Amino acid sequence: MQGFRLGSIFGFEIRVDLSWLLIFFLVLWTLSAGLFPTNYPGFNNATYFGMGLVATLLFFASLLAHELSHSFVARAKGIPVEGITLFIFGGVSRTRMDAETPGDEFQIAGVGPLISLLLAGFFGLIWYVGVNAGWSVVFTGVFAYLAVINLALAIFNMLPGFPLDGGRVFRSIIWKYTGNLKKATKIASNGGKWLAYLLIAFGVLEMFGGAILGGLWLILIGWFLYSAAEVSYEQLLLRTSLEGVRAQEIMTPYPETVSPDMNLQELVDTYFLSRRYHSFPVAQDSHPVGLITLTQVKDIPREEWKYRTVQDTMIPTENGVTASPDEPMSKVLQKMQDSGVLRVLVIQNGLLRGIITANDLANWLQRQRELGQMT
Ligand SMILES: [Zn+2]
Repeated sequence: MQGFRLGSIFGFEIRVDLSWLLIFFLVLWTLSAGLFPTNYPGFNNATYFGMGLVATLLFFASLLAHELSHSFVARAKGIPVEGITLFIFGGVSRTRMDAETPGDEFQIAGVGPLISLLLAGFFGLIWYVGVNAGWSVVFTGVFAYLAVINLALAIFNMLPGFPLDGGRVFRSIIWKYTGNLKKATKIASNGGKWLAYLLIAFGVLEMFGGAILGGLWLILIGWFLYSAAEVSYEQLLLRTSLEGVRAQEIMTPYPETVSPDMNLQELVDTYFLSRRYHSFPVAQDSHPVGLITLTQVKDIPREEWKYRTVQDTMIPTENGVTASPDEPMSKVLQKMQDSGVLRVLVIQNGLLRGIITANDLANWLQRQRELGQMT
């Protein structure tokens, strides 16, 4: 999930996923053509559009404040935060690692709903003052909506289903009392799945009751929550089962290498087309110098393949695509993700010992499962 860059606040990069544009216009439309005209009749369309636009922008700002609060607390706890991505169901803070203690997680997760609750109170107060001072409903209507939507956000996010904020708070509490992160995550993500079933069931009921769009929306959120709960648990399982495992246990030893002087046409014809691999280590006189992947070659126009060499297309070994045989897999995994090619070369004393690809990881996990090492 990359999206486009909106700017940066307090050193956090703010990105917007394309799906978020859809939700922006959906909210704008629901407010200016539905909610406001129904609740406050007697104004012209331009007024409703103005109310809708201000309400949507402030709703967007509220979401951002919620996510920023997570990022601030995470940064204060020493967890590097790259930025925030807003997408269809709100936002996510892009952090490089998870909280290290239950106490940290409790605070990082809990602050978001707290901020939404405070915002609900803040907008509620302006609404209250406005109503008593006799402001037009053009203003008080917007504040009433913002108070309600922030309250709804706080409540929804506090539901005890992982990976919602409430699910994380729930997990941190179990984690604290059992001392077992894996068990806590399993319980909390099961909570997430049950919550997802409930949302989907409510959605189906709503659809039968005639509220097609509202029902569909609930089903979509339920489905999203279900897969998020599953993925988060799988990721944790991967991380915990890789604890204490070293690169040499996972790698494919002594992979076939290609020469840096070869041109890309030759590489495709003699290697990519006839072998089942999607990448090759590049070596000069048995010294590894880089890594070349099929994706990199595909990015270059076919007619240039004859004139380009492996050398000027590959990722050089200096660019973080290498590991040593006894490096912990937790670190290697991070390198694989950071390098963007999901692979590393395993090098010892300047010589190529092996390669680790996503496939090697998947095979290793499969074997662990078959041997009953994981639950
Ligand atoms: Zn949150």
